[in-house]
Amino acid sequence: MADGLESESRKLLRRLRDTMAEEAAGQARLDKITFLTADSIGTEVCSIYLFRDDETLELCATEGLKPEAVHQTRMRLGEGLVGRVARTGKIVNTADAPAERGFRYMPETGEEIYSSFLGVPIQRLGEKLGVLVVQSKHQRRFTDDEVYALEVVAMVLAEMAELGAFVGEGAALSARHTQAVLFRGTTGQEGAAMGHVWLHEPRVVVTNMVADDPESERKRLVEAVDRLRIGVDEMLAGAGAEGDQAQVLEAYRMFANSKGWLRRMEEDIARGLSAEAAVEKEQSQARARLAQATDAYLRDRLHDLDDLSNRLLRILTGQGRETGSEMPDDPILIARNIGPGELLEYGRQLRGVVLEEGSVGSHAAIVARALAIPLVIHAERITNEALNGDRILVDGDQGVVHLRPDDSVNNAFRDKMAMQAKAQERYASIRDTDCISACGTRIGLHMNAGLMADLPSLHGSGAEGVGLFRTELQFLIRNKMPRRTELVQLYSRVLDAAEDRRVVFRTLDIGSDKVLPYMKPIDEPNPALGWRAIRVGLDKPGVLRMQLQALLRAANGRPLAVMFPFIAQYEEFLAAREEVSKAVAREERLGHTLPEKLEIGAMLETPSLGFASQKLFDEVDFLSVGGNDLKQFFFAADRENELVRRRYDTLNASFLSFLERIVERCETSGTPLSFCGEDAGRPIEALVLAAMGFRMLSMRPASIGPVKSLMMRTRLDDLRGVIDRAIADGEQTVRPAVMDYLRELT
Ligand code: PEP
Ligand code: MG
Repeated sequence: MADGLESESRKLLRRLRDTMAEEAAGQARLDKITFLTADSIGTEVCSIYLFRDDETLELCATEGLKPEAVHQTRMRLGEGLVGRVARTGKIVNTADAPAERGFRYMPETGEEIYSSFLGVPIQRLGEKLGVLVVQSKHQRRFTDDEVYALEVVAMVLAEMAELGAFVGEGAALSARHTQAVLFRGTTGQEGAAMGHVWLHEPRVVVTNMVADDPESERKRLVEAVDRLRIGVDEMLAGAGAEGDQAQVLEAYRMFANSKGWLRRMEEDIARGLSAEAAVEKEQSQARARLAQATDAYLRDRLHDLDDLSNRLLRILTGQGRETGSEMPDDPILIARNIGPGELLEYGRQLRGVVLEEGSVGSHAAIVARALAIPLVIHAERITNEALNGDRILVDGDQGVVHLRPDDSVNNAFRDKMAMQAKAQERYASIRDTDCISACGTRIGLHMNAGLMADLPSLHGSGAEGVGLFRTELQFLIRNKMPRRTELVQLYSRVLDAAEDRRVVFRTLDIGSDKVLPYMKPIDEPNPALGWRAIRVGLDKPGVLRMQLQALLRAANGRPLAVMFPFIAQYEEFLAAREEVSKAVAREERLGHTLPEKLEIGAMLETPSLGFASQKLFDEVDFLSVGGNDLKQFFFAADRENELVRRRYDTLNASFLSFLERIVERCETSGTPLSFCGEDAGRPIEALVLAAMGFRMLSMRPASIGPVKSLMMRTRLDDLRGVIDRAIADGEQTVRPAVMDYLRELT
């Protein structure tokens, strides 16, 4: 860059900084900025448009357009060139604005005489705040240096807006982080919570955007980058990572050492930005690209870059995670994403969790479920909006979050929580009562578990036992393979906690969405249909064998129930059972005590098993329908894909007819049958399953009360009649008929 322009840009930044330092109202500051910018770039017009709500931009200050248009001229997102910049987040630079596609002129501003137009987005870390525009009569395209200068002004504006420098009258100039905001996300775990925000990664606050001495800023940056690199190297050495994990960390190191990254930041410093501002500018650009990227690999790399920028900012500002603020008594954790280990560390003190990313099947979601903490995922941009200590309401049932709610929302939410608390009291009063329907059928209600944190629920929920213990969760939350002795201790503690209740241990169910961090991930075209669960266990039996030994030893003479996941054909069950026989023989040889009773069952998760040979039904000690997987294969609808996962109703007539067939086959062979997918914990679905003949259901502990309460008030024989009639009438789903029947009852 030419030295002249470089110092021009520094001069502008210095003048902006002085403006910020002056005691002035928000409007006066904005006016001054438009004047300085127009003066410095040499254009007749400079205007600032800010969002007054998600969809509308408002002209908030101008040099050159008619002053009476300020706070009067508004446009929708996408409308005109300004609206286009706001919507796309991309610069518009044109010599002939009226000839541009989508141009729309606002007569009240008097802009018709201006030909050239340059608009840049005002955004901070990917969050759009408005548009900064310069215009001139003379027809010309703006140079790269002018574009750069305007971008830097926009960035300073965004940063100052964040710090509340432009607060004034009206929505567009109202203080940020004070308004109520509603986030619509996805349910990760049901339940309602009210409390105060606790940010997992508090934002770094940059107050010095402009610096006088580029050389000392450059030195600070280079030193900080050196410290960052050393830190990353240590991380790489410390992790002792192998294979793909090492590759991920290597990619991270590559970024930290990237010459282009450092060079761009040095250039920004040369033009007058502080080291922190230069890092944040890079970070903002990475975030903007992240918002557009659809390729998973690219997204991961941009996340890496974002992460590195955060580390660098923390080094430069000295702001650690510790901000000095104290965790509130009723913390609701806000994070972009969080690992299961970190979530477990916070533990039950959290009232709720809200994530920007995550997935229903993620390990963090599993932990939140185990801890019974309401969780909302996909709450986009909440980490940008929320500040430590803000009031927040989490509605896990609807997947909705209210940040800084007004009184009416607060009161309505309080009422909802009071009603839920009342219902909980009712459930507590029937906790020790058997679940017997109004027509006298006994239904066994068991719980699903997988972590030690789940086990206190065994007593609190009234569960008769653990119908599904997902052993893979213990493998998923660690960063290395657990040893056999650790597993023996763990399983033994589970059996101790269960006292004399039955616990069904499902052997390791990995693959598909459950990838162990320390195992080499396999690139499969379709992981849900791929090498997973028992298929891995039989092909590479080392871990399965270790697990079976650990289970036998943990039982130490007590009864033991083992269940194999994802059995698709009889022969797989035989091979898996053979592994148990071998393990038993080995334990016997070694002189260990064998279980007093050993049950070996299978999960029915693929339609094929419903049609398996009679021998399977005769030989398994029990079967459990894994409805989550069975449904995805029955309807060919991926359970992890938001676009299709809710498309088919569990109460669909074809699915129920298939379940009926399984129930009949089990009745004929005298095989105990249960249902342990998520549907077992949904009261209406649970009723229908019981009416179809399931006598044992296993579910989330929190569902036991609601399911029991409804079951005890319903005649399953009558309900079965309703279901059969709806199917005979050719209904696609029996849900409306079931709902009508239940409504009549109440
Ligand atoms: C199921 O598929 O229904 C099940 C209970 O197993 P998971 O959800 O762990 O796959
Ligand atoms: Mg399954």
